[in-house]
Parts: sequence; structure tokens; C-alpha cells
Amino acid sequence: MKTLKFNSALMLLTLFTGLNYSFANPLTENEKAGLQLMREEEKLAHDVYTVLFEKWQLLPFSNITRSESRHFEAIGYLLETYNLEDPAYEEPGKFRNKELAELYDSLVAKGAESLVAALEVGAFIEEVDIKDLQELLEAKPEAQIATVYENLLRGSENHIRAFTRNLSFRDQVYTPKVLSVAAYAEIVGINQQPACNGKRMRQRACGTRNNGGAKCRNR
Ligand code: MN
Ligand code: MN
Repeated sequence: MKTLKFNSALMLLTLFTGLNYSFANPLTENEKAGLQLMREEEKLAHDVYTVLFEKWQLLPFSNITRSESRHFEAIGYLLETYNLEDPAYEEPGKFRNKELAELYDSLVAKGAESLVAALEVGAFIEEVDIKDLQELLEAKPEAQIATVYENLLRGSENHIRAFTRNLSFRDQVYTPKVLSVAAYAEIVGINQQPACNGKRMRQRACGTRNNGGAKCRNR
């Protein structure tokens, strides 16, 4: 315990003074693998949304692409901090992780089918992200890593809400494929209904007409 506390103090000292103090890598193998997975998972989101924005020119794809760049950079910063190898290729659509490489190909193909399919691809990517981040957080990583993961998780929750909202504008209800229905409903808001969600609160009629009297959520 004493050693742990000493190491944390040393790390804080290093972070706050900006000294280039070298310390033994305190991460477990799982923590290292988690960072490397998330680095490429953020790249996957970024690269898929880039292609989907080019194809459909729909705003959420460009906004969210920028957010994915920031997530990607945040993990890159952690890889550097802990002296870990960066698995990410510069080339778009190329991944070291085989599963992510296959996922990229299939998601880009599906997202080209229609705008609705593209928005569903977006929601699916965010589901994968949310699940992986929740699992990584459950393992209680180093505080600095946990903070970054929590920020990324908030981002993914915002993104899945945005994709869900854009689907609902097109009268589509998204069915979660990775998260449980309950977990998904909690993130996006249980009362949302296709014809109502996303419209302004002052359109009172939509509350009674479309979702049984529940108030429209104004997100
Ligand atoms: Mn992200
Ligand atoms: Mn995202």
C-alpha cells in the first residue's frame, strides 16, 4: 500500500511539475491492452464517420467526426504518457486490430446503403464504444485513465443520442444491438417517440398526440 501511495504521489508530482521524470510503467497488461484497443476504436469511429459524411453530407457526421479526433488524441496522449506503443496507422480505414478492420469494412458498406442505415451504423459504433468503455472502467484503471474514459463515455452517450434523434426525425426507432434495451433506453431517454423527440417544447400538442401525454424531451 505504501509503495502504491508513493508511486501515485510521484506521478502527480511528475504531471504537475511537468518534469520529465521517468518512472516504471505502473499499468497492468489489461490496462495497456485497453488503451491500445480504445486508440483504434476511436480511429474506427472517426474513419467511418468521415466516409459517411462524404457520402451523405449530414451534419452530425461532421460534428461527431471532430469529437472522435479529440477522443483519439486523448488516448494518444495516454499512450505517450505511459510509454506504450501506438497501434494506430495514419492511413484511414487501416487497423492493426483484425476485428476492427473487419468491422470498418462492413460498417462502411452498410452505411452506404441509405442515410437511415448510415445513422444506424453511427448508433451501433457508439454502442460498442459505450460497452467497451464501461467494461474498462469497471476494472478500475489508473485515475488519469479513468478520467479520460469517463469523458469518452459522456461523448459516446451524446453521440448515440444524436444518432437516435436523427433516426427519429426520419420516423425510425433504433433497436440496440450491443447494449440491453433498458441500458439503451436509460441513455437516450425512455419517453422519446419518433414524431415528437427533438422538436421544441412549445409544440405542446406533440406531447399528447404522440406519446401518451408525456412531455417532449428537449435535448
Ligand atoms: Mn469516441
Ligand atoms: Mn462517438
